[in-house]
Order: sequence, then structure tokens, then C-alpha cells
Amino acid sequence: LISVDKVNKHFGPHHVLHDVTTHFDAGKVTVILGASGSGKSTLLRMLNRLETHDSGRIVVDGIEVNDDHKALDKLRAEVGMVFQQFNLFPHLTVLDNVTLAPRRVRKMDRAAAEARALELIERVGLSAHSHKHPFQLSGGQQQRVAIARSLAMQPKVLLFDEPTSALDPEMVKEVLDVMKGLAKSGMTMLVVTHEMGFAREVADRVLFLDKGCIAADAPPAQFFGAQANERIRAFLGQIV
Ligand code: ATP
Ligand code: MG
Repeated sequence: LISVDKVNKHFGPHHVLHDVTTHFDAGKVTVILGASGSGKSTLLRMLNRLETHDSGRIVVDGIEVNDDHKALDKLRAEVGMVFQQFNLFPHLTVLDNVTLAPRRVRKMDRAAAEARALELIERVGLSAHSHKHPFQLSGGQQQRVAIARSLAMQPKVLLFDEPTSALDPEMVKEVLDVMKGLAKSGMTMLVVTHEMGFAREVADRVLFLDKGCIAADAPPAQFFGAQANERIRAFLGQIV
């Protein structure tokens, strides 16, 4: 579904991604791990053009990721993203947050957009809250709204950048459970997270970035197993 070929990224003199080449298959869950500054967010953000790449090629579902604005609209509709800070619209209700993009971008009429939004809101367990504003919700609830909002565009892939890092511990599980449900339903997901339980249980594959290079790419059983090399052991030792 997504191919990344010899992609490089610099920020000024800083070479952040080195010749990254990989492929993400439809229906699979990839967890991306790596130390702070290893380039995880940059890699995700390049996939929907929140960040440009300096060289190499990225193709998402046949769409070449570049400056072509027509392609960009299509790309953004196909690649949803969920951030650490939920980025909900504070002045809109849950329902309006979820219907906004389908109405504005997909030109869905209000009734159709709302019917679909209510299904998604139910799917993330928030039916009782659809007329509330974000400030009336807990962090975990807000993040579930953010997931429903991403799903409303019917993306082919969902990118998650530390979706539970800003949450109080007791709210992490409710968000991970929604993500597990999505994974089970066959959604293609790329997830940057420090939740190793999620990685072990849900990921099809773990990608480990070390200073902008892919240093490991393996199924979780193998990644967390005896084969783990020195750098991976050091990384895992730090976060658990
Ligand atoms: P973290 O775990 O802390 O989120 P990360 O693996 O997501 O780290 P990135 O955010 O991708 O790392 O950043 C990789 C490197 O690029 C870091 O050294 C960072 O300081 C640098 N960087 C990221 N964004 C920018 C930017 N907009 N301008 C300059 N440097 C940047
Ligand atoms: Mg990051």
C-alpha cells in the first residue's frame, strides 16, 4: 500500500533520515520504535506530506507524494493521522468534529455525514457524549473522538504518533482498546508508541529506527525475543 524508497531528510545540517527504504502492506499493523530524535515522527509525517522529503520516492496507494496539490488532497483523505495532542476543534461538538471533514472535503450532505459520524462515535464508545464539547471530555475520550474523526474520511491507512503519551495512565487502555479493534477490523496502521504490550500483542511487525536508519524490521516475537541485538536491548531497557 505504501512504498518508501531511499528517502532522505535533513533539517539544516542534521541528517534525520538516511536512505530509508521500506514497504507497508494493506491490512497490517506496524509499530515504529526508536529513541527520541531517531526520526519516527518525521517518517510518519512525510507519508501524508506534513513534512517534505529531500530525496527518494514515497508512493501511497498509487499516489506519488510530492508538491502536486491535487494529489495532496487525495493523499490527505487516504492517510489519516492521530496525534499525541488530540487537535480537536474546541468550539465544535464531538459530532461536528467528526462530520466537519466529510462535509467540507467529501461534500457529504449533513444527514449522511451525521449518520456515519454517529456510527463511528458509537464504535469508539462515546454515544452518550456526541453533543459535548472537547473540554467536557477526559483526555482518553478526546483521543477516541480524534480517532473517530480520522475514520470519518474513510482513510486507507491511519498513522498514530504517540497517541497515548499525553494521557493519564488510567485512560491509556480505553484508547489502546479502540486501536486494537481497528487492527482487528483490518485497518492498515502505523503506530509510533512506547506501549510495548500493544506492540507485542497487536503489531504484525516492529520497525526500529536508530539515528534515522531502519536498524531492525521483524515480527514482534522475534524483535522482543532472544535475537534482539545490543542497541535494541539498550533501547528496551530504557523504556521498561
Ligand atoms: P521523539 O521520540 O522525541 O518524538 P522522533 O523519533 O519522533 O523523537 P523526530 O521528531 O522525527 O524524532 O525528529 C528527528 C530529528 O529531527 C530530531 O533531532 C529533531 O530535533 C529534528 N527535527 C524534527 N523536526 C524538526 C524541525 N521542524 N526543524 C528542525 N529539526 C527538526
Ligand atoms: Mg516523535
